[in-house]
Parts: sequence; C-alpha cells; structure tokens
Amino acid sequence: MIKIERKETEKARKAVQSLQKAKSSKSSYNTPEVNAALREMFHGKCYLCENKESTSFQIEHMYSCGKNPELKYDWNNLFLVCAHCNNTKLDKYEPILDCTKENIEEAIAFRKKGYFGTEEELVFEVLDFTDETLNTQRLLKEIYYGSTPQKKMEAKILRKILRKELSQFKEYVREYQEAEDEEKEDLKCLLKQQLGDASAFAAFKRWLIRDNEEVYPELAVYSKQ
Ligand SMILES: [Zn+2]
Repeated sequence: MIKIERKETEKARKAVQSLQKAKSSKSSYNTPEVNAALREMFHGKCYLCENKESTSFQIEHMYSCGKNPELKYDWNNLFLVCAHCNNTKLDKYEPILDCTKENIEEAIAFRKKGYFGTEEELVFEVLDFTDETLNTQRLLKEIYYGSTPQKKMEAKILRKILRKELSQFKEYVREYQEAEDEEKEDLKCLLKQQLGDASAFAAFKRWLIRDNEEVYPELAVYSKQ
C-alpha cells in the first residue's frame, strides 16, 4: 500500500463527467470511464495489496454510502481494489488510512522477514499510532494471511506472487551491485522503475532499500515517496 495521487487527468475528467450523468439518471457508478480512470490512477494495482496480477478488480467506496448516497458518485470516494481485499475488508476496518491523502509508508513499514528454507513472515510495523494506522495494519495482516479457509488459500497465492516479485527485485539489485559502467546505468533505470509508484508491491521493495540505506545510498533516493 502506497500513497496514490488523485491527479486531474483527461481520463479522470471523463470519469467525473460520467459520474454526474449516472447520478442524475440514477444509474450505476460503474461506468467504462470510471474503470479506465481508476486503472490509470492506481497503476493497475489493488490499492490495498498492490498486486497487479489479480484477475478480478472491483470498485470500492472508501466511505460507506449508507448514510450519504451522494458518496456513491463521488470520484474522491472511489478506489480500485481486488476482489480478495474487498471481500476481506467489508466494513470491519473503519476508519483506515486514505491512501490518496496519507503518506502510508511513513505510517507503516512493510517487511518480509526470513528467506527460503526458513520461516517467512510479513511484518507491518506501525510507526504512528493512530486508529487509522492500527486498523490498516490489522486489515493488511488479514489480507496477507486470511481468516476463513478460502481466504487463507487466496492469501497464500498472494504471498507467493509477492515472494516472486521480491526475489526478482533482489536479483536486480544484486546484478546492479556487480555491474560496471554502462550496464550499471541500465540497471539503475530498471531499479528506479521497480521502486516507482507503478511497480507491484512497491511498499515492500522501497522498505527493503530503506532498511539498507547505507549499502545502497544511490537507490535510497528512489525508495522514498
Ligand atoms: Zn488486493
């Protein structure tokens, strides 16, 4: 989970227009324009787990529309989420950190402890003790570990995708360390991309570099939002 900027792009403008139209005709907020704008804004990632490989994405309302139906059509209240995370969150964790407003990585450190052959564990360390952060931490734990038999299975698949992504990332860092001159520059570009907002599981990758800042000072600049 990282901070995502709600930029005023052409797609976002069209989404807001289509929401106004849907609102006045009392039709669904789930329009092609809204989906296209959310995909662009969230870089094709679920805002909670940062998985890009999910086959089922949904639209989430951050603030529940029960008391205020207007919120259903409020662009600022719409988030791109995968089915696994949406079905995990339901309304059990309120309020959580709003990733379009809060600097998530300053509130929570994302770490994967252990390595192949040892007990691997995902740790979400709370750095600022607000209700929002604590709820977000509890939610992230449930997302990555599950609570029902089915969710546990889904969480296992999610952890597997994360593990693969992080291994690949570590391999790039190793190659970068050993490379010379021109090759080093190319790899640096690749790592900059890997640490960028559009990268899958960016919070974990960036915290890996932040935790090893002295070893990779030139990569550390890409690891902070
Ligand atoms: Zn997700």
